[in-house]
Amino acid sequence: MIDFLKLANPGVAGLHPYQAGKPIEELERELGISNIIKLASNENPLGPSPKAIAAMQAELADVWLYPDGNGFVLKEKLAALHGVAMNRITLGNGSSEPLEFIVRAFVQPGDEVLFSEHSFAIYPIVTQAAGGVGVAAPAKNWGFDLDALKAQISARTRVIFIANPNNPTGTWLGAAELEAFIAAVPENIIVVVDEAYYDYASHPATGASGYPNAIDWVEKYPNLMVTRTFSKSYALAGLRVGYAISHPQVADLMNRVRPPFNVSNLAMAAAVAALDDADHLRASVEMNAAGLKQLTAAFDEMGLEYIPSVGNFISVDVQREGKPVYDALLREGVIVRPVANYAMPNHLRVTVGKAEENARFIRALKKVLAG
Ligand SMILES: *Cc1c(COP(=O)(O)O)cnc(C)c1O
Repeated sequence: MIDFLKLANPGVAGLHPYQAGKPIEELERELGISNIIKLASNENPLGPSPKAIAAMQAELADVWLYPDGNGFVLKEKLAALHGVAMNRITLGNGSSEPLEFIVRAFVQPGDEVLFSEHSFAIYPIVTQAAGGVGVAAPAKNWGFDLDALKAQISARTRVIFIANPNNPTGTWLGAAELEAFIAAVPENIIVVVDEAYYDYASHPATGASGYPNAIDWVEKYPNLMVTRTFSKSYALAGLRVGYAISHPQVADLMNRVRPPFNVSNLAMAAAVAALDDADHLRASVEMNAAGLKQLTAAFDEMGLEYIPSVGNFISVDVQREGKPVYDALLREGVIVRPVANYAMPNHLRVTVGKAEENARFIRALKKVLAG
């Protein structure tokens, strides 16, 4: 009998699929309970801007048409927002897609891709799928150790991934240390700074003073690529839209591996409208800052250590194996994220929800830890 596993390319055959947060409907089916809250995928609980919803509704009748494969309107908007040329922008079906494009464009089997321990799971997955070798540098106090990363650079390194802030730890790098690192990396290695949580981290209330906008550096460092997403602060995770800003030649190369029409017309219309709703973005980020305070105050009161976060999530040490605590929380109707697959077996990552959701999570956590 045919064994397709043996036919698959070796990188793919050895892959473990990305583990997503558990969907609410799935838990409803399994436990037969309702009133479930999901604080597992760093989604924005405020939901999308009404302007984005209206823009999608206006676009609905046109979905029989292919979208603009070059994404002119959205790129023009982003170019103006960031003060960069349009030919530096690559749109993606989520920002995960340009993370994959960059590897497909530059990594050959056996080449190395560098990232950190406890960092985003997509990096090793896209690396291995391309036949690349993922190299994880050790972390320091849960955050990036840039010296350790630098020490792992070899003649085979093609790409370095840095999430700032990092998921699932919420740790961040300041402007001076990050720029010094980028400047020290040989020019033939692409450095990707993944800024999925930029809007949260750059808000003064999260306390990340000196947190950089790496887009400011793309003209200075041709090998720098920065990614952003509409999935988090813009609350459009289900639409799948994000982008990369890079050297134009790098963008051109990524465009060669990009599937045509990878971003839908609904997604682009919503993204353009969302960029026009500064009030909604501010409300989202302010609610997050308040929620982080609410959660950390509760953890302090409970005597639980946590990793200080500037994202819209926080990882808390439950002082025992996290998975059974996660399972017990599910039975309370609260979905969080176990992070044992990030080598953090005693932590759970919780997304910052609305005030009442955070309170319900805390009540459930107290009950579960006491039980
Ligand atoms: C959520 C997240 C993304 C964004 O994923 P999308 O594909 O844009 O939904 C990228 N990087 C990190 C570190 C994330 O946590």
